[in-house]
Amino acid sequence: MKFHEMNEREIVDVLKTDCKTGLSEKEVKNRQKQHGLNVLEEGEKPSALLIFFSQFKDFMVLVLLGATLISGLLGEVIDAIAIIAIVVINAFLGFFQERKAEKSLEALKELSAPQVQALRNGKWEKILSKEVVPGDILKFSSGDRIGADVRLIESKSLEIEESALTGESVPVQKFTEALRVPNPGIGDMENMAFMGTLVTRGNGMGIVVATGMKTAMGQIADLLQNAESMETPLQRRLEQLGKILITVALLLTVLVVGVGVLQGHDLYTMFLAGVSLAVAAIPEGLPAIVTVALSLGVQRMIKQKAIVRKLPAVETLGCASVICSDKTGTMTQNKMTVTHAWTGGSTWTLDGGGYSPEGSFYSRGEKVNPNSIKPLQQLLTFGMLCNHAEVLEKNGDYVVDGDPTEGALLVAAMKAGLTREGLLNQFQIVNEFPFDSQRKMMSIIIKDKNGRQFVVTKGAPDVLLGLSTSVLWNDRQQAMTKERKQEVQQAVEGLAADALRTIAIGFKPLSSATVILSEHEAEKDLTFIGLQGMIDPPRPEVKTAVKECRDAGIKTVMITGDHVITAKAIASQLGILTPGSKVIEGKTLSGMSVEELEDVVEDVSVFARVSPEHKLKIVKALQNRGHVVAMTGDGVNDAPAIKAADIGVAMGITGTDVAKEASSLVLLDDNFATIKSAIKEGRNIYENIRKFIRYLLASNVGEILVMLFAMLLALPLPLVPIQILWVNLVTDGLPAMALGLDQPEGDVMKRAPRHPKEGVFARGLGWKVVSRGFLIGLATLIAFMTIYYRGDDLAYAQTIAFATLVLAQLIHVFDCRSEKSIFSRNPFENKYLVWAVISSLVLVMGVIYYPPLQPIFHTVAIVPKDWMLVVGMAALPTFLLAGSFLASKTKKNMI
Ligand code: ATP
Repeated sequence: MKFHEMNEREIVDVLKTDCKTGLSEKEVKNRQKQHGLNVLEEGEKPSALLIFFSQFKDFMVLVLLGATLISGLLGEVIDAIAIIAIVVINAFLGFFQERKAEKSLEALKELSAPQVQALRNGKWEKILSKEVVPGDILKFSSGDRIGADVRLIESKSLEIEESALTGESVPVQKFTEALRVPNPGIGDMENMAFMGTLVTRGNGMGIVVATGMKTAMGQIADLLQNAESMETPLQRRLEQLGKILITVALLLTVLVVGVGVLQGHDLYTMFLAGVSLAVAAIPEGLPAIVTVALSLGVQRMIKQKAIVRKLPAVETLGCASVICSDKTGTMTQNKMTVTHAWTGGSTWTLDGGGYSPEGSFYSRGEKVNPNSIKPLQQLLTFGMLCNHAEVLEKNGDYVVDGDPTEGALLVAAMKAGLTREGLLNQFQIVNEFPFDSQRKMMSIIIKDKNGRQFVVTKGAPDVLLGLSTSVLWNDRQQAMTKERKQEVQQAVEGLAADALRTIAIGFKPLSSATVILSEHEAEKDLTFIGLQGMIDPPRPEVKTAVKECRDAGIKTVMITGDHVITAKAIASQLGILTPGSKVIEGKTLSGMSVEELEDVVEDVSVFARVSPEHKLKIVKALQNRGHVVAMTGDGVNDAPAIKAADIGVAMGITGTDVAKEASSLVLLDDNFATIKSAIKEGRNIYENIRKFIRYLLASNVGEILVMLFAMLLALPLPLVPIQILWVNLVTDGLPAMALGLDQPEGDVMKRAPRHPKEGVFARGLGWKVVSRGFLIGLATLIAFMTIYYRGDDLAYAQTIAFATLVLAQLIHVFDCRSEKSIFSRNPFENKYLVWAVISSLVLVMGVIYYPPLQPIFHTVAIVPKDWMLVVGMAALPTFLLAGSFLASKTKKNMI
């Protein structure tokens, strides 16, 4: 018999499990050994050796190796060995950079690995989906992706979208009864939930019957090529730029070689020098360093509790101009405590804080016994029954497992001495229509000991008010007249004005024979019982974050399902709602087209009582106004807006799998302030990339120009090939990487967001590269000529040029840290850079002063007094331009 044909007991027998306690840890271990991990196998990854050898596939490196081999055969053995050694060291550097990039991308994947709720050792736990074994009991609710193939044993309005398997995008309703249909297709197995499919509504529970490659998904795994690009727009642009740079570098090299040969230099020497120059000047390491900088930035974001799921988002983050954020849990603490209760005509207050069930009820400051006030007791009872949450005591503290709003209702009832067990002895829950943010309510159908049935609905007061035909007033049922409606509304607004979140409770008696199948039938003709108002304090750090964003040219917009007055009160506290800014409600939004919204959207700071589908409209209107939008969300219905936003942000704690999968950024702590930190980091990463592009290119321009100038002036070669390669190795490697780790410049959050179409060389970067490069080349040449014309040995003049070129670059690297000038930042702030520069200096000094290396590098020890020349010339390019910057600034200030 197949699993879908069996009933619950038969499956439990076959799979040797227990629906009350789940599997034991020991049994899980055994089954993992037997069945393996619950993962779909992926294709082979390139081996480390392959990555290493791929470093040599670069055309110019191959030419260099070829040329070296020839020179080796011609007798220049030491030169040949040294060059090959440098090429190998370079390859190692590239290899480690690439490995690091790969590893951090993998770590990133691990972090966003899917999880499931499983029953193990009698307790529900969140476990990694890959650890699931056959026989595990799983539960899932709207927004979850199913972790394995599961035979359902519980379904509460459960609907699953199975398009990944069947291509059919309409969700399928799920039941638990055994199927008797012969050979049903996947789409017909209504009592099964399959790995990789999505719960779109309700909740359910089931027993795992297949994992990993044995699942329906595993059987078609080969077809699922997850080829999502992790390349960022900048990386793509740099790739194109790389091609241009290679061509330019090659042309210039050819020019150097050509001019050199015309000036009477030996063809073979010029060829080797040219190839070395090409290898040095081509910024082959750029893509790898960019990836490393991006992934290191991503690691830093993880430390700040933001996980980047799609690398391109790192760049887009720096361009964000509007953040649309949920209120509950993101801007507030999601720690709710009921402080007020209201039933027809009377208000009570509650004391106590957090989720501790200690506290009392008061009427006008007088302590009262809530159980002696019937409507209040009813309000609390129904609030506790129409509820999914649990309040648990953990290390002396009380926490909520489930929705905090529901937790608060539980705690309020507990303060009146009610317990859920006690209530479940009196009432049986026969049906449930789960909460969704579209309806903004949840209902249950309960049966009492006498067989009487009731619908109990809890939800947004304005919604319930529209569905209520009567109201409990001073414990008597009365028609919901216009006046009564107004009085209830006033009560709601009174609570909301104190920034309280409000929940209304209503009920309806049913005749015992009535069977209600739809929420639509249940949620009408209700009797309005009353309200509970709960505080949800703002997160203390949000106010500062909102201000920091404003300073950075980023507007914060609150989007909430909550009542407009509650939303306004909290938005004002947080500095989001400023004088002149507008509030729009969901119902107004429904009647507006995207174009109409576009006209006003710039002025709106709060959207209240919205449904998830409104979010898409808001994103579109803002994007049409040219904004780069970050949008948060957690539910299934938020996914389209998250996807459409430039930066989709999902909540790590409360977010559903669907929201997370649609997002490019996940907030581990669900905190608004984390978005701000991620934006800051995003801006910094981009600036750091600009810094090392500037550094590498200016250095390369300097290297080429010194050679070109020398050839044009009919001078001997200022650098021999191996020196060129050494300069490249020493300056391009560590210092460039260290720039990628640089701290943000002080004003990174004081500037307006970057325009998304802005080129890499914008804001004067291109000029900086050319001007610094030109001066570095010129200064090196002057140092060389000074010594050469003084009549010194050519090798000595070359050593001077070599030292000047390296030192000029190592000074210039500090200049690259700032958009302004070298003097605007403390040079010792970036420790990595200081160490990188020190090690580069050691490597240069080593080849200049260590006698065994001198013949290999064609160097001669520099005498102390000549260092004045070297240092002076090396410092000239940076200080000359810094001086001109300062002068222009002083002039501007004077004007
Ligand atoms: P945000 O969009 O900022 O997260 P929110 O949590 O208030 O705000 P929803 O979850 O869509 O947004 O809730 C909308 C309204 O539905 C709430 O204001 C509340 O009145 C009601 N509500 C929230 N949770 C429940 C629940 N578990 N049961 C019944 N009604 C609820």
